[in-house]
Amino acid sequence: MRIAFFDTKDYDKPGFLKAGEKYGMEFRFFETKLTEDTAALAAGCDAVCVFVNDTVNAAVLERLYALGVKLVALRCAGYNNVDVQAAFGKIHVVRVPAYSPYAVAEHAMALLLTSVRRIHKAYNRVRDFNFSLNGLTGFDLHGKTVGVVGTGKIGRVFIDICRGFGMRVLAYDKFPNPDAGLDYVELDTLFRESDVISFHCPLTEETYHLVNGESIRKLKKGVILLNTSRGALIDAAALVTGIKERIISAACLDVYEEESDVFFRDFSGHIVDDDTLARLISLPNVILTSHQAFLTNEALENIAETTVKNIRAFFETGVPENELCYRCGRIEECRRDRSGKCF
Ligand code: NAD
Repeated sequence: MRIAFFDTKDYDKPGFLKAGEKYGMEFRFFETKLTEDTAALAAGCDAVCVFVNDTVNAAVLERLYALGVKLVALRCAGYNNVDVQAAFGKIHVVRVPAYSPYAVAEHAMALLLTSVRRIHKAYNRVRDFNFSLNGLTGFDLHGKTVGVVGTGKIGRVFIDICRGFGMRVLAYDKFPNPDAGLDYVELDTLFRESDVISFHCPLTEETYHLVNGESIRKLKKGVILLNTSRGALIDAAALVTGIKERIISAACLDVYEEESDVFFRDFSGHIVDDDTLARLISLPNVILTSHQAFLTNEALENIAETTVKNIRAFFETGVPENELCYRCGRIEECRRDRSGKCF
């Protein structure tokens, strides 16, 4: 089995090389992202392995299909970068539905604590032998209300962490889980009552720009927004305005809607063209990390293991594991439920 591995980073290689050696898989590592222009690199490969910012649109799928590629293996959970309907009937797409919800939830809390207790400022100050405390006053999380949007695997771990801090938790989910023991409320109520809001739902047409110019007016004044899900849940330009209008007191972001052009790369010493990103970075109450919430040893190990297992299952049994839903429209008679395969 030959697999074209796009958007390779140094930290990806050890786990995949080890797994590849064990199961006779040859990984061809490419630093470039998968795009219409780079799809040709997959020539001679049975599968491609991609990450969050690779492009898997109709044109790319068409090119891969023409090259004889049979499987797209996402080494991530979210699949908003895949045109699922264009893939249906042509190329199977599998993903890693869970690798460490703890990694992402703990990073969300790390960002929140950094922001609330001004750790990023204190760290720099002390390194400069400035031991003054002026401007570093934070507040207790204990007793504050946190609103969690999306109560799946990551959202629920984040809720447990918040409960450990003695926070009151409000939850919103399009598909609430009645057994989760959560206080589900309408989204407007969550927006109105929360001191902190953390997003853990997928990016879909429905959740695109969930935070926008209009919904920002519904937020409690002084709210802190946390986004470790997908950038486009938040309209970044509206976020800047909301911060300037002092409605949003801080934003902690691991994702950004235009991240694919910049994240995971070193632009130090360069001029970044994205003015909204530059504005966000310049604001003292915005903390931005470069889509690193997943990046723990445990998560990397699980990602490599599950991805390799997904690839093997497909080529050895013909039945894909962890295949995503192509929304083929045949809800009444889901073929996968009957035969284990969508096509
Ligand atoms: P999950 O599928 O377990 O949970 C998602 C939850 O969102 C589900 O409960 C679902 O019902 C809910 N949901 C779906 N549509 C919704 C809507 N319109 N409004 C509100 N809730 C809705 O997924 P997860 O593993 O908890 O991951 C959540 C998201 O985190 C992923 O979609 C991915 O985008 C993001 N993620 C980010 C990183 C990172 O490194 N920053 C890593 C992994 C995942």
